[in-house]
Amino acid sequence: AINFNAGPAALPLAALERAREELLDFAGTGMSVMEHSHRGKDYERVHDEAIALLRETASIGDDTEVLFIQGGASQQFAQIPLNFLPDGGSADYVVHGAWGEKAVSEAQAATKWSGGKVRVAATTAQGKQYTRVPTPSEIQLDPKAAYLHLTSNETIHGVQFHEFPDAGKVPLVCDMSSDFLWRKTDLSRFSFIYAGAQKNVGPSGIVIVLAKKDFIAQGRKDLPKIFQYRTVAENNSLYNTPPTFAIYLIRNVLAWIKETGGLSRIEEQNRKKAALIYGVLDEHAGFYASPVERASRSTMNIVFRLPSDDHEARFLAEAKKLRMVGLKGHRSVGGIRASLYNAVSLEWTTALADFMRDFAKRG
Ligand code: PLP
Repeated sequence: AINFNAGPAALPLAALERAREELLDFAGTGMSVMEHSHRGKDYERVHDEAIALLRETASIGDDTEVLFIQGGASQQFAQIPLNFLPDGGSADYVVHGAWGEKAVSEAQAATKWSGGKVRVAATTAQGKQYTRVPTPSEIQLDPKAAYLHLTSNETIHGVQFHEFPDAGKVPLVCDMSSDFLWRKTDLSRFSFIYAGAQKNVGPSGIVIVLAKKDFIAQGRKDLPKIFQYRTVAENNSLYNTPPTFAIYLIRNVLAWIKETGGLSRIEEQNRKKAALIYGVLDEHAGFYASPVERASRSTMNIVFRLPSDDHEARFLAEAKKLRMVGLKGHRSVGGIRASLYNAVSLEWTTALADFMRDFAKRG
């Protein structure tokens, strides 16, 4: 299949082939990695290698913890305010899509326990539509905020921050689920990054967290241990049984990124892929409509509309005959969405661009 799913998404073939080869006999142990104890040396090597590869790939400094947490990015929407929104304090949120809305709504629910307030520092909502990120001057940042929460890429609306706003001394917290490790960028300005693995780095059900040690230390201590980030950090993400097979697959994907030439090479490919598809949208602007403002166009999730529902249904059916899957837009917004994560090749993207051009000509 030529897989353009938004997540769970395509994984690099090399990472999956390695998993297939090792499935029944991991590292010569005569059993699968998922049958090993998470406290044993064989598993520990994979776990530590995944963390080391993450540190190397994303140039993560010693002031930052790399954590693996279960429960998905959605759980982080609640866990972050529970830890970092102090009683009587306030946290700022920027909203430019459905995931930002969910983050706000879960943070508001969390204030029942944590106290504190949730402020929307900027929103670009036009009814249910989002077509851009806010400009820096639109963000009404409270300089005393406990943190400023951003979503770097809105997966459903295809709206992405290309430059991150300056939050001054306010700690930056970012949901990078759908554009984590897509380019070489300085992550050191963030106090807390979280990313569901199921787009660019692995299977679903696991979140990678990069958190500054001093920020983790500020977290509440009166929460159940399992919800405190310090518990995960102090135990090298082995406080309880982690999803070992997911971490093993993340290791394979990170090894593939390294072999492919690291993030510079991945970024070059990603930019070429996005340029190909946006190129067709612009070439055939009378046929394809791209709702997102140019400066906010996502390199990961490209959303567009065709002239009618009937055109869209035919587009999906014809694409499927060419083995192209996962192109249906999110159920809440409709239309078409092509997700071009790291594992989606230039060859697949070229095939999609050719099909789109041909379809537009036929009308
Ligand atoms: N944040 C973003 C940007 C997403 O795209 C998603 C969805 O996949 C989520 C959060 C929710 O992730 P999960 O389903 O792993 O909780």
